[in-house]
Order: sequence, then C-alpha cells, then structure tokens
Amino acid sequence: MTARILLVEDEPSIAEIVDFALTSEGFQVVWRTLVREAEAELAATPCDLTILDLGLPDGSGLELLKRLRRHSEMPVLILSARNAELDRVLGLELGADDYVTKPFSPRELAARVKAILKRTIRKPPDAGETGQSRRESGFVVDEARAIIRFQNQPLDLTRYEYLLLKTLLAQPERVFSRAQLMDQVWPDPAASFERSVDTHIKTLRAKLRDIDPNNDPIRTHRGLGYSIRVRDASP
Ligand code: CA
Repeated sequence: MTARILLVEDEPSIAEIVDFALTSEGFQVVWRTLVREAEAELAATPCDLTILDLGLPDGSGLELLKRLRRHSEMPVLILSARNAELDRVLGLELGADDYVTKPFSPRELAARVKAILKRTIRKPPDAGETGQSRRESGFVVDEARAIIRFQNQPLDLTRYEYLLLKTLLAQPERVFSRAQLMDQVWPDPAASFERSVDTHIKTLRAKLRDIDPNNDPIRTHRGLGYSIRVRDASP
C-alpha cells in the first residue's frame, strides 16, 4: 500500500525537497500551495497524512488544522519556519502529530513521516482483537472506528482524549505517571507539557460524568499520575 501524502507548502524550493525525500521512500506526494486548494483536495480524495506549512498565501496552516480536526483524525505534521514555542504548543494542542522546523533534514522528515504512519495506520479489524473488547468494564473500545463507548453510549472524544482513555483501559488499575501518558499519547512528548495530560483528563472526566454522574472511573494518584478503575458490571 502506497501512503498518499498531501504537502501544503507555498515555497517551491522546499516543496521540491520534501517531494523528492518522500517519493524516494515510495510515498505518493500531492502538492498544493494554498489553504483552499488543500481543503478541496482533502474533500475530493482522502490522504494518509498531511505536511502543513503555517504561513500560506491565503491563510494560516493552524486555521486549516483547526477546521480539519473537527471531522478528521488524519495525521498532520507541521513544517514551519517559525520556531516560536507558542506556535509549536498551539500546533500540538490543535492536534498536530509532529512539528518540524525549517531548515530541516529531508531524511529526518521522511523518518518522522514513517514513524507517524506506523503509529497511526490501523491494524486490519480481524487481526486478533475484534475491537469489541473490555465490555465488562462499561467501556467498549472500537479501535477500527476509533470510538469508545461508555455504558453503550459513544463518547464524543478529541484525538488526545481517545488515546488517553484507550491507554488507561489497556491496563486497568495500573497507575500511569503523566510522563508515561505523554509518551504513549503525544507524538513529541518533549515539546508538550505534562499539564496537557491534566487538561485532557479533566475534559474526559466531564464527558464520562455526562453519561453517569455517579461514576468517576478515573482516579488521580497525587504526585504519581492516573489510573482507571474497571467496575465489575456482572450481577
Ligand atoms: Ca510559507
């Protein structure tokens, strides 16, 4: 399977370098220079990953990312000349999977693209787990559709909330430190902040409370981290 990569970049010399680095690795690259062209392309044909410049002639890559994340979990790697901490944090908070600063090494960029795709491309649904696992806990993780149900109701989760909850559910009762959760869930833990874990745990708890106000399965272990309690629902 050839991964199809959308490159959104208005600088032809940079686009050429990226295109060459990725096609040499066997990827199919589609190059667009404008936000509106990129959005039209994504609406027409799904891509496996987008490489996104931030400063584009008709708008900001961050705005594009924000709109994209309302309906899509497609991996996004930001490629930017801006190395401001704020852009980096904002990009990752908005759901980018990685952030590479120009000038960059084409080989490193290709390696990062491969790493993201390896992490995000889903396993075939009939390989081992059926996806309908851990029903007894009140949670059902449907990995093929990237959905988690809680007491039969699908949770409306952001990308990070989904990954956090999935990680906690993989090992119920285990206490995960914030750093361990960052490692599991965030693409570039060093660039994010551990308080991001707290923020997403908080929103996740609120969503679980909406479904069952009397049940808070996520436990905070002061100074240690978080764990999830699996309630035995059997009579
Ligand atoms: Ca630019």
